[in-house]
Amino acid sequence: MTRHGAFSEENSLAKIAGKRAWRTARIAYRRAPTMKTLAAVLRERGLPAPYAQSKPLSIEELDLDPPGPGEVLVQMGAAGLCHSDLSVINGTRLWPLPLVLGHEACGHVREVGEGVTDLRPDDPVVFAFLPSCGHCPMCVTGRAALCEPGVAANRAGKLLRGTVRFQKPGAERVNHHSGVAGYSQFSVVSRESVVKIDADIPMETAVLFGCAVMTGVGAVVNTARVAAGTSVAVFGAGGVGLSAIMGAKAVGAFPIIAVDRIESKLALAKQCGATHTVNSASTDPATAIRDITRGGAETAFEAVGDGNVIAQAFAATRRGGRTVCIGLTHPERMLTIPALTITAEERTLMGSYMGSCVPQRDIPRYIAMYRAGLLPVDLLRTSVISLGEVNAAFDLLDSGEVARQVIRF
Ligand SMILES: [Zn+2]
Ligand SMILES: [Zn+2]
Repeated sequence: MTRHGAFSEENSLAKIAGKRAWRTARIAYRRAPTMKTLAAVLRERGLPAPYAQSKPLSIEELDLDPPGPGEVLVQMGAAGLCHSDLSVINGTRLWPLPLVLGHEACGHVREVGEGVTDLRPDDPVVFAFLPSCGHCPMCVTGRAALCEPGVAANRAGKLLRGTVRFQKPGAERVNHHSGVAGYSQFSVVSRESVVKIDADIPMETAVLFGCAVMTGVGAVVNTARVAAGTSVAVFGAGGVGLSAIMGAKAVGAFPIIAVDRIESKLALAKQCGATHTVNSASTDPATAIRDITRGGAETAFEAVGDGNVIAQAFAATRRGGRTVCIGLTHPERMLTIPALTITAEERTLMGSYMGSCVPQRDIPRYIAMYRAGLLPVDLLRTSVISLGEVNAAFDLLDSGEVARQVIRF
């Protein structure tokens, strides 16, 4: 569980260390066009678990260019370990390598590039893992999570304006994961990849808004627009699924049924707002959910990223029900569901990427909900670790036993 007791001391030590690191780095930055940063780099995908032994992530010193036009330099405060990071390590997500991993992160702005007029050094920011250009057909219709230049840049491992700012000294460029590259002491990112937040939110809390909360809560309030009193089932009680449960509680859904294979995560799901739990290791979830809801859930969320679980979630909905896919499956995975039920029972299958969020609007909104006690986000954080512990921490994530592990810089 969270180690609040150990936090204050660790925190202040980390702050002092961070300031020192920044001072040293800044001197280096002034002396040369680049600065140094320690980062976790993925060079080969598909290495076998346990990762504590195969070490897919190597901690390397990289050169980092100063921010160009429209970019900012951020000193990382915290970064989370998400299943989407694990998917890059195990080869489910095919981002270009070598890559500085990490897409859920927060930190403080240290330098701004030319043309960035609305951020200043020391501003605290949370990263959005898809930069939104603000001009493409998706952005101008309010669908920032589908920004076309943003996704093209992410797929290329580049920042929104086509740049790559990390380099192995004297060797090759190292790509950015989702425009964030959170597992690095410092990162240069597009202005469009950061959202300014209040200064008094602790970094180990703020980080959770970057992926888990934005994706899970957003799926409920933006994608599905769940109504009060309607039934919700959430498959997968990891960081994103638990956030969906919190979102469902915040909007007044009832009942809220959590499905997972691990009892400890079902217990956590109850703390987050689930009214019922189903252990899918021992019970058929679709049958159990149809019993609890007398016919099926009105909205089911899949936060695992598995075709069979999507089919289970679909089967757990009632006539007219909606299944919202949040988890990311392998790109070659096909899905089989009964086609007739789409027409004859008016069932809907919906996708939700980044919670259909507009990060500049939604991150401050969800932080305000957290402050009001509507989203108990700190429950998501299982432990706080250091950058050097990252490989072993991915073994824990792979085991399914933990929600969010957070790297504190
Ligand atoms: Zn994520
Ligand atoms: Zn766009």
